[in-house]
Amino acid sequence: MLKCRRCGKSLTKFDKDICPYCGLVKPLDGQEDNTEDVTQFIESTNLNKENLSYKPKKILVYSLLLMFLGIFAAHLFYIKSYFKSIFLLVFNLIFIGMGGYLLSLLDFSVFEGQIYFYWVISFAVLFIIYFILGIVVFIRKQVVDNNNQLLR
Ligand SMILES: [Zn+2]
Repeated sequence: MLKCRRCGKSLTKFDKDICPYCGLVKPLDGQEDNTEDVTQFIESTNLNKENLSYKPKKILVYSLLLMFLGIFAAHLFYIKSYFKSIFLLVFNLIFIGMGGYLLSLLDFSVFEGQIYFYWVISFAVLFIIYFILGIVVFIRKQVVDNNNQLLR
């Protein structure tokens, strides 16, 4: 903290030519105003470190994960949207389960004795949906991560 050497009021380095309280010329003479500058320097280096440690997620990685592992919500794990990823996993399970069940009602005679095939088809349909979605997302590039940063 900088102080006027006559009246003792707190000053900033902008008051170094004249004290606004008592009018003393050069009220900061004899005081090193380095302290303030050092703090500012440390603050700016901290900011730079934060910026450096923050690595924005890649849209290419996100899209590839969505294309091939979207069914396991891997793309949401990648951008650390854990809450959403749980919801998506539950949704996918319900989709595959219900889809397989509905297909089994159609009762294709081809799958006789291999009833799990209905769920394999259901899984494949969902896989294709995520695959196409991954391509669309990569083209549009409109994904933001948890820090509200646009993926590049
Ligand atoms: Zn003063």
